[in-house]
Amino acid sequence: MTDLSALPPPASGTCTERPRSPVAVLRERGQREVFCGLTGIVWLHRRMQDAFFLVVGSRTCAHLIQSAAGVMIFAEPRFGTAILGDRDLAGLADANDELDRICVELLERRPDIATLFLVGSCPSEVIKLDLAKAAERLNARLMPSVRVLNYSGSGIETTFTQGEDAALRSMVPVLPSDDDRRLLVVGSVADVVEDQMRRVFDGLGIGPVAFLPGRRAADLPAVGAGTRVLAAQPFNGETVRALLARGARMLEAPYPLGAEGTTAWYAAAAREWDIPEATFEAVTRPLAERARRALERYRPRLDGRSLFLMPDSQLEIPIARVLAREMGMRLLEVGTPYLDRQMVAAELDLLPGAPVLSEGQHLERQLDRLRAARPDITVCGLGLANPLEAEGHATKWSIELVFTPIHGYDQAGDLAELFVRPLERRARLAV
Ligand code: SF4
Repeated sequence: MTDLSALPPPASGTCTERPRSPVAVLRERGQREVFCGLTGIVWLHRRMQDAFFLVVGSRTCAHLIQSAAGVMIFAEPRFGTAILGDRDLAGLADANDELDRICVELLERRPDIATLFLVGSCPSEVIKLDLAKAAERLNARLMPSVRVLNYSGSGIETTFTQGEDAALRSMVPVLPSDDDRRLLVVGSVADVVEDQMRRVFDGLGIGPVAFLPGRRAADLPAVGAGTRVLAAQPFNGETVRALLARGARMLEAPYPLGAEGTTAWYAAAAREWDIPEATFEAVTRPLAERARRALERYRPRLDGRSLFLMPDSQLEIPIARVLAREMGMRLLEVGTPYLDRQMVAAELDLLPGAPVLSEGQHLERQLDRLRAARPDITVCGLGLANPLEAEGHATKWSIELVFTPIHGYDQAGDLAELFVRPLERRARLAV
């Protein structure tokens, strides 16, 4: 029987109102190894099927997006780069006129686009190209058939998942207002995961349910005092806070990863909707048992193995929680680029004591700790994976955790399998 009261209680307003046991954090500042927020376009353009992402940037930005997305494109891409040339960068040409012309041409060619995101980059920010003004100008010309929004994907002080947060945050001011009761799931999930979640919420009698982002960017969910926000991804803190500022309330929960986290996530909504425990049990128990069986298949290969997570995706804390609590892995270090306590409060409550929970990065020192600890698996960014593999470490790319459907009961086994594969690959190499 699932005891709903044993799961984290709902928060009112913000998660920081509840007293917490202090978590010791090693804060590091130094050289970092991260991708910029432009990377988020790779999964956001697939999720929002009527949106186009136009990066206003340099050839470097174009190459980043092309190489990150190149292996994953299976349909006509809905992203591109308006490349700032030397004359733009030197302030010799009017980049605004050029940008307007490119956008209008693009939208004439692509009538399927209902939302155009202008995405700022380091170069567009260096020359102070005002994309908010550009969006305003274009909206005056193009609304209501196309809405133009803007956000910044730039920066090496951020991490790549913050690109999604910035994109969703840019949508919050244009969400319609109403105070009707609704559940708003915040954070990109795969379409198949959304369908599964909707089936569970329907079974529980929880609704209406909206997703941000949804399959169509133009279908904007309303927000107001009756909105209950349930975060599906831990890296959308700014978006969640913007929704709270519009009257919504956050339901505190761990993330729907693994059988345990998924049950707790649904339980947070079930408590808010006063769903009887018997109903909750009837709907979730078979699904949770199937998820546990899927996890058990992989557990013998992960149990007792050690894990070191470098800071990259901001999914490190929930992933560490699943692998430690449900797969028996030993946590050596859990690194996160940025510890947003409001977004991970319930996760921190569940995280078994790791020798180090680190925030930020001093790459050399962290690599020293990693080499000394010799973990069985290291979760890290793409740039570190090859050098570490060459040193004999089994690695898992953290970006895969964003590209692969891993949320919910039906994906629990796939999540575990992601961590079995590097061990098997290394075992094969060792033969
Ligand atoms: S870090 Fe800046 S210049 Fe480099 S790809 Fe990202 S936005 Fe472009």
